[in-house]
Amino acid sequence: MTHSDIIIEQTDRYGAHNYHPLPVVISRAEGVWVEDTEGRRYMDMLSAYSAMNHGHRHPKVIQALKDQADRVTLTSRAFYSEPLGAFYEKLAAYTGKSMILPMNTGAEAVETAIKAARRWAYQMKRVPENQAEIIVCSDNFHGRTVTMTSCSSSPEYREGFGPYTPGFTIIPYGDADALEAAITTNTAAFLVEPIQGEAGIIVPPTGYLRRAHELCKQHHILLMADEIQTGLGRTGKSFACDWEQIVPDVYIVGKALGGGVMPISAVAADSEVLGVFGPGSHGSTFGGNPLASAVAITALDVLEEEGLAERAEELGTYFIEKLDRIHSPIVREIRGRGLFIGVELTTSARPYCESLMASGILCKETHERTIRFAPPLIITHEQIDWALERIHKVLHPA
Ligand code: PLP
Repeated sequence: MTHSDIIIEQTDRYGAHNYHPLPVVISRAEGVWVEDTEGRRYMDMLSAYSAMNHGHRHPKVIQALKDQADRVTLTSRAFYSEPLGAFYEKLAAYTGKSMILPMNTGAEAVETAIKAARRWAYQMKRVPENQAEIIVCSDNFHGRTVTMTSCSSSPEYREGFGPYTPGFTIIPYGDADALEAAITTNTAAFLVEPIQGEAGIIVPPTGYLRRAHELCKQHHILLMADEIQTGLGRTGKSFACDWEQIVPDVYIVGKALGGGVMPISAVAADSEVLGVFGPGSHGSTFGGNPLASAVAITALDVLEEEGLAERAEELGTYFIEKLDRIHSPIVREIRGRGLFIGVELTTSARPYCESLMASGILCKETHERTIRFAPPLIITHEQIDWALERIHKVLHPA
């Protein structure tokens, strides 16, 4: 038995089986590369589901972590801490919004946005108590809490977890007419992923977000963009909403905000929306802790200093163009924006992810038939070429 085998056995024996990982045990990482316990090197093409936009152990992010760890790590929100205010100011500038509410995980941030939208609807729109509705899309992924599970349309996410949180209307993704038809006087918000990630990198039709934005304005409902996976440069812009030059009422961010180091998420909106929270109405012990705040400030700095969004746009175009030339009989469609790319196969993607792993590339199937390629945004042309050579071989099995 190898060291990896022992660790896999131990993990599977004592841990709940809520994931189905590829059989690789990562013990070190740097930039776009990870290394397993036997010293084999792999290129990371998943980036921890887009939480690793900066690459593994970005020196500036790690330095910020160390510096803050030497000062103070956790205060709770019973007191003020030094980096929190600076983090708010930084994220407010990045999003163009006037208020920030920090949490830890993506799901918590979406929950926060839902609470804000409901209270906003009762206070600002006079929606009758307990009647506020949130419109969401089929095949959405907003996290795994009971409420996020309740607004999901996927049986695999929902089955056996009822009773479900009420107050959601599910409409088809990419269909603005369906949105218009679903709006009622009790609608508080439309919650949407600008590109659906877990559904298989589904890019909606051009003009969809713009029209959704107009409808939301017209009917006085909040447009809440879940940019947890698509935001912070991943799709080649700061936010995927930027592709249609729209600014939603609420941005929900997470993942890469923590620089691949700390869990930190946030809701960014104007005070009309986030101002609905008063002391006691919401919070989290670790939300906005000094360590995560310091790391997030640096993570946002690095995105800007290194032009990671622009880089994702350029390299993503290059990557997709080259993938298009692979012409494999098992490829049904290649789609994506920036370095957020899905290759949909005509067959199950899992065996191909296993073959890619054997050839030194780590990626993961999403929704059965789609391979997601989402490398760290610091990847180079040469590294993409290195990957393409191997992807070509795997997608052209002899
Ligand atoms: N929203 C979107 C669009 C996501 O892609 C994810 C995670 O993949 C989440 C929410 C949930 O984030 P977390 O796993 O940090 O709770």
